[in-house]
Amino acid sequence: MRPEGAAVAAVDPEIEFRSEITVQLVDHQASDLGVVRAARVSTVGEIAQTETRSDGYVEGMLKYLMKSRHGSPFEHNYLTFLVTAPIFTVRHMMRHRTWSFNEESARYREVRPVFYVPDADRLLRQVGKPGHYQYVPGAEGDHDRLVEIAKESYGAAYAGYNELIERGVAREIARIVLPTATYSSLYATCNARSLMHFLSLRTHRQDATYPSHPQHEIAVVAEEMERQWRELMPITHAAFETFGRVAP
Ligand SMILES: Cc1cc2nc3c(=O)[nH]c(=O)nc-3n(C[C@H](O)[C@H](O)[C@H](O)COP(=O)(O)OP(=O)(O)OC[C@H]3O[C@@H](n4cnc5c(N)ncnc54)[C@H](O)[C@@H]3O)c2cc1C
Repeated sequence: MRPEGAAVAAVDPEIEFRSEITVQLVDHQASDLGVVRAARVSTVGEIAQTETRSDGYVEGMLKYLMKSRHGSPFEHNYLTFLVTAPIFTVRHMMRHRTWSFNEESARYREVRPVFYVPDADRLLRQVGKPGHYQYVPGAEGDHDRLVEIAKESYGAAYAGYNELIERGVAREIARIVLPTATYSSLYATCNARSLMHFLSLRTHRQDATYPSHPQHEIAVVAEEMERQWRELMPITHAAFETFGRVAP
């Protein structure tokens, strides 16, 4: 606890404290019918890219592919997202090796002083055993003190970064004093198969075949990606749900 009466360091007004994590679909080529066409090459051969099928046929085919884990037809599409999130969340994203990423550089541009501060709804306490953790609200005062400490430490880190830059130290080395709560932005491109794998790990659904327990901030990214993908490929999404959210 901070001793009563101790002063809180003044915060640089240039610094932005942010709780929002954003995901924007910036480009895509993705449809349920595209999956069906890719699968039908197997039995039809040269297939017209204008070929259409009824929704019932598409649903039946996609359910069959999902159930039998015939995954490659789900790869002939792409979705590109622009994600703006703290570095610790970007790090979670980059564990997914079947995606393509391009992230803003802290060597070629100065780091923007934007830092993550969890909002008041963020569950703050962890109870239970490893692998079976549950997250519950913080005790009275936890959130206020967290925000206070975060702001003080981000302020000190950014002051140090600025001092090093002003001394002429290269950006690539000055950045080492900044926290993983610093915001970054990146382009992230995947296909529907790799997206389903990502969603199976980075969202929590108690009724999934393999329930996962991702950290809240990466789950925010995943939930928003799922919402946008579902609009493009609703029948694939429904089949993913039907078969326990296991990527084919
Ligand atoms: C709740 C949670 C907690 C986690 N905790 C930790 C942690 O404490 N420490 C830690 O280091 N990581 C942790 N991770 C990350 C985790 O170990 C994986 O790196 C991450 O989830 C990506 O999964 P993946 O390798 O299946 O996916 P991707 O990298 O997207 O790969 C997709 C699939 O491709 C195949 N594949 C890809 N590369 C290879 C390869 N080299 N060899 C063989 N097959 C391959 C696999 O079938 C894989 O499932 C955690 C993840 C989650 C969801």
